[in-house]
Amino acid sequence: MVLMQRYKNYVTRLQKLAKFACQFNNMDSKSCKNKSCVTPVGRYAPSPTGRMHLGNLFSALLSWLSVRSRNGRWVLRIEDLDPQRSKEEYAKLIEDDLHWLGLDWDEGGLSDRGPHGPYRQSLRGDIYRIYLDKIRATGYSYPCTCTRADIIATQAPHQSDGRIIYGGHCRPTSLPSFLPEHPTARHSTRLYVPDEEILFTDTVYGNQRVNLTHECGDFILQRADGAWAYQLAVVVDDALMGINEVVRGSDLLLSAAQQTYLYRLLGLTPPAYAHVPLICNSDGVRLSKRDRSLSMDELRKRHTPQEITGILAHLSGILPSPAPCTPHELITEFAWNKIPPKKEIPIDQTSI
Ligand SMILES: [Zn+2]
Repeated sequence: MVLMQRYKNYVTRLQKLAKFACQFNNMDSKSCKNKSCVTPVGRYAPSPTGRMHLGNLFSALLSWLSVRSRNGRWVLRIEDLDPQRSKEEYAKLIEDDLHWLGLDWDEGGLSDRGPHGPYRQSLRGDIYRIYLDKIRATGYSYPCTCTRADIIATQAPHQSDGRIIYGGHCRPTSLPSFLPEHPTARHSTRLYVPDEEILFTDTVYGNQRVNLTHECGDFILQRADGAWAYQLAVVVDDALMGINEVVRGSDLLLSAAQQTYLYRLLGLTPPAYAHVPLICNSDGVRLSKRDRSLSMDELRKRHTPQEITGILAHLSGILPSPAPCTPHELITEFAWNKIPPKKEIPIDQTSI
């Protein structure tokens, strides 16, 4: 009996050590053999450029439910890379709206609580610089002096959906290429993308194959004015903050391919991706921060948090009807296979 107890204690100690090692090494389910040691870590990463709307809350609720249903952790990161449009007052309102609905987070936010701060992207420039230098060292990034007008002028005529595909004007003739670190002309830094399919699996939309050459071309890591590009900042932040599940709108599916490629270049393990349908108004246009009727300041005047949660749970397929409930009451109801793999969910905004 004593021997058996000693053996059990030994096994428990080993399991604790394994768990610590995984957390220390920031591993996720793909790199960790011991599945029991993986803590799901999700995040909500809003840009504080306006008041939240129903569509923002939809993504936030699903991300929160996904990690809370597996005893995971939730991080709130403020994506305020755009200094002109980002405002602290909006960040405060985002926090207030999340709390109003009943969503809590373990790390981050304006209080900067947690071991992976700062949690505002505007304060993380020195970190992005280190990772940009790592990418430069691969020889696959290069300075680009093209203006937006230059790129539009060289666009193939069929690119009419608003996406700008870079034609490779400044790409070095052979790669890898190690160009001067500080070229004299004002330039952005672009990343070469290979003419091959990037593969990843999305929890909602299944297996994805994206050829970045056709979808976006070589993309920017740092703009000519010094601003950090979304793709680089998000990959660096998610990796360093131990995020192993990214839940966000289906409009960012292409970004997942760009980010998967960046993870590969940096030798990091990408998170699991779960893109979710976008909420659209009755005209079929995705909600924006300009849609006043479904903005949180209007919704909070007309509804209780339980009513809004019920509406979101019904839209997402978690509940068969929009019965008022709290996010906590949905934890046991949540399952990813309930979320419809549609790109958009239309709603009649006059009915809400
Ligand atoms: Zn160029």
